Amino acid sequence: MIPAAFDYTAPSTVEDAVRALAESGEDAKVIAGGQSLIPVLRMRLAAPTTLVDIGRVPELRGIRDDGDELVIGATTTHYEVQRDPLVRVHAPLLRAATDTVADPQVRHRGTFGGALVHADPAGDLLAPTLALDAELVLHGPAGRRTVAAADFFTDYFTTALRQDELLVAVRIPKHTGWGAHYEKFSRVAQAWSIVAVAVAVRVEGGVIAEARVALTNMSAVPVRADAVERALVGSPATAESIKAAAAHAAEGTSPTADGDADVAYRQHLARVLTSRAVTAAVGA
Ligand SMILES: Cc1cc2nc3c(=O)[nH]c(=O)nc-3n(C[C@H](O)[C@H](O)[C@H](O)COP(=O)(O)OP(=O)(O)OC[C@H]3O[C@@H](n4cnc5c(N)ncnc54)[C@H](O)[C@@H]3O)c2cc1C
Repeated sequence: MIPAAFDYTAPSTVEDAVRALAESGEDAKVIAGGQSLIPVLRMRLAAPTTLVDIGRVPELRGIRDDGDELVIGATTTHYEVQRDPLVRVHAPLLRAATDTVADPQVRHRGTFGGALVHADPAGDLLAPTLALDAELVLHGPAGRRTVAAADFFTDYFTTALRQDELLVAVRIPKHTGWGAHYEKFSRVAQAWSIVAVAVAVRVEGGVIAEARVALTNMSAVPVRADAVERALVGSPATAESIKAAAAHAAEGTSPTADGDADVAYRQHLARVLTSRAVTAAVGA
C-alpha cells in the first residue's frame, strides 16, 4: 500500500530537529533508518502529517570513547556498531546481539537508536542495552535528560520518550574483558527472536565475580533475570552451577502466547537458552 501523504523535513542539527517536531505538533514523526517506520506507514497503521528525517544530523552518528563509557549516537547503523573496534573491545555483548539482527540490507539502513525507540519486545538490542546498564540521552524543547534503560522501556512498543523529544545517544558503561554472548532462538535464519538471552560475565579465578543477564521477548519489555544473576555470582564457572542458576530464568517474566510459542515453551526456552548463553560467555 502507498503511505498517506506527509510533509518532509531533513534538518542538519539536533536543535532544528527538535524545533521541527515541536512546530509540527502531535502528528509529526521522526524517521531514522525507516526499517520499522516505513512498513508501518505502508500498512497505514500510522499516518503522520510530517516526517522529520534525522539521517542528516552529523552529531547523532558515530561511536566515541568517553572515559568509563562508550557513547553511541542514535543514528549509528547496526552495520557500524558491528564493525566498530571500541564496541568489540568494550561492549562485546552489543556486538554479538547486533550480529543477529535481520540481514545485511537492514543492518546497513537500520539504526541503534531507531531499534530502541521502536521498542519491539522481540527486538534484539533492548536486552543487551538493559543488561549493560546503559543510559539513554533524550533531547527536547527544555534541553537534555538522561533515562536509565531500566526505566526507558515501559510497555509494548512504548518508551519514556516524549512526542517532542529525540533520542540522541546511548551511554554504555565499558565491560572491558568481560565474556559475552547473545543466544537467539528463531525458526529460520534472519527472523525475529522467539526468545533470546543476553549475557555478560566477569570471571575471576574460575569463579563468576559479576553477571548481567537480560531476556528478549519474555515480557512486554526486556527483563533482567535477577534470580539468575544472584545465583551465578560467587559460583564456579562450571556447567553444573550454570545449569542450576539458569533454572531461575523464567522467574518474574510474563511471556505471551502466539503462533511461534506458548507460555510454557517460552519459559522452557528461557531456561535452556540462558544456560547456553552463560556457558558460551564464560568460555566453559
Ligand atoms: C525485514 C526486517 C527484519 C528485521 N529483523 C530484526 C531482527 O531480527 N531483530 C531486530 O532487533 N530488529 C529487526 N528489524 C528491525 C531493525 O532493527 C530496524 O532497524 C529497527 O527496528 C528500527 O530502526 P530504524 O533506524 O530503521 O528506525 P525507523 O524505522 O526510522 O524508526 C522506528 C521508530 O523509532 C522512532 N525513532 C527512530 N529514531 C529515533 C530517534 N533518534 N529519536 C526519536 N525517535 C526515533 C521513529 O519515529 C519510529 O517510531 C528488522 C527489520 C526489517 C525490515
